[in-house]
Amino acid sequence: MKYIVLMGAPGAGKGTQAKLLQQRLGLPQVSTGDLFRYNLSNQTELGQLARSFMDKGELVPDDVTIAMVRERLSQPDCVRGAILDGFPRTLAQAAALDKLLAEFGGHINLVPYIHVEESILVERLVRRALIEGRTDDNEATIQNRMRVYLTQTAPLLTLYQERGLLVQIDGDQSIETVHEALCQAIAAA
Ligand code: AMP
Repeated sequence: MKYIVLMGAPGAGKGTQAKLLQQRLGLPQVSTGDLFRYNLSNQTELGQLARSFMDKGELVPDDVTIAMVRERLSQPDCVRGAILDGFPRTLAQAAALDKLLAEFGGHINLVPYIHVEESILVERLVRRALIEGRTDDNEATIQNRMRVYLTQTAPLLTLYQERGLLVQIDGDQSIETVHEALCQAIAAA
């Protein structure tokens, strides 16, 4: 069982890299953002609830998010592990993930942190807003997502660093170069 937790600010390239790792390692990408967007476009109850938070750039409440991840990681395609993308984002989610993986008889194997300067991140997000038309990629929401990331998610970096799980990857390089760096880090773990 292998559980990789990809960390990085919004726009750092977690989604792109998680998809490449999924192909390379044969482990499913579990993206909470994608799961929420799927629920949103299918107009489920969960989607309706998530929308009000996503549109403001706020985090969806922990209990809802944790229940969704529990359900997803219990699916048969996750028996060998998963690449977590966008989860955990709070200390409560991190604690819940530890508990959940322990129930499965696993643990976090590595936390690659894709690091990109904040000014480059905002530029990337504004560009993505134009290309993908994501409703949560407007300027006010982008600023709020950055603030939420710094206050609620960045403390997890310290937690995983203290556990010796964190490995920093320079995210301001080509997609291929970042992918190779990630693969090397994972192979060495
Ligand atoms: P992302 O695609 O990962 O940037 O996520 C888009 C939005 O989905 C976030 O701004 C949050 O509103 C919500 N979201 C995604 N992952 C989480 C999470 N782990 N906890 C709470 N909300 C989340």
